[in-house]
Amino acid sequence: MYKRQRLYPDLDQLVVLAGQPGWAWAPVDRITQDGQRHPGCTRTFLRRIVTEAAEHHGLAFRAAIEIEWTVARGDAPGDTFTPATTGPAYGAARQVELGDYPADLLAACAAQGIDVEQLHPEYAAGQFEISVGAVDPVAAADRSVLVRQTVRAVAQRHGLRVSFAPAVVGQGVGNGGHVHLSAWREGVNLHSGGEGRYGMRAEAESFTAGLLAHLPGLTAVTAPSPASYLRLRPSQWAGVFTAWGRETRETALRVITGTAGLRDQAANLEIKPVDLAANPYLASAP
Ligand code: GLU
Ligand code: MG
Repeated sequence: MYKRQRLYPDLDQLVVLAGQPGWAWAPVDRITQDGQRHPGCTRTFLRRIVTEAAEHHGLAFRAAIEIEWTVARGDAPGDTFTPATTGPAYGAARQVELGDYPADLLAACAAQGIDVEQLHPEYAAGQFEISVGAVDPVAAADRSVLVRQTVRAVAQRHGLRVSFAPAVVGQGVGNGGHVHLSAWREGVNLHSGGEGRYGMRAEAESFTAGLLAHLPGLTAVTAPSPASYLRLRPSQWAGVFTAWGRETRETALRVITGTAGLRDQAANLEIKPVDLAANPYLASAP
């Protein structure tokens, strides 16, 4: 039955927007007019899963969603896509081509309390990526929305256009929205320090196996648009094979052990067949 709803901002998460002076932002929960959680509220759904994992299984999750996007010149006519940069992936030349945009973007993220771990030029023309620190899954999904809003708003102020579409052009590397997840029990990262493969504890191995078993079906949620299938092709690091591997960018699940000395904090599982057409609350629901 259709339920009338209202959008209730979660004011504990209110952020003054650095890229849009005069504005603030907060994620919302969908509440029915009778004051109940709306059954279609995906933020509520994710919160419920996280709460049940904690209460019934003593498990906590940490998550981060990578944001990839393409920057185009804002002065190109109509729908023409003219990449704003020509320099190579990972090259400092691209940063120069974008002028103050990258630095202003980092400053805006910092002002909004987002800890950026890396901002780098990616492989497609005009493509960039931001990685942020891991937080609880609801906060991670909220943050993915805020990062996108910031990327877009700061670009606008620099006369640039951005796209998070899974594929901006028909051929070539697309924009992913990889989800990083780690499961924790009593403050211990289950993906590190264990007897299993690559240091996984038994529960992390089971978690990985379960995710892999369900991933072909889950991809309907994590890569939901027709354009998602322009991205999901071999040899473009989109993770199209139902397989897992340590630091393997072609497998759907990439086991990340982290660097020696940091593994107990950094080890996690990266889910690659995810793009930013996906609802982030559904895509990060472990
Ligand atoms: N752009 C690639 C994708 O579509 C990901 C590249 C990478 O970060 O490994 O998922
Ligand atoms: Mg990337």
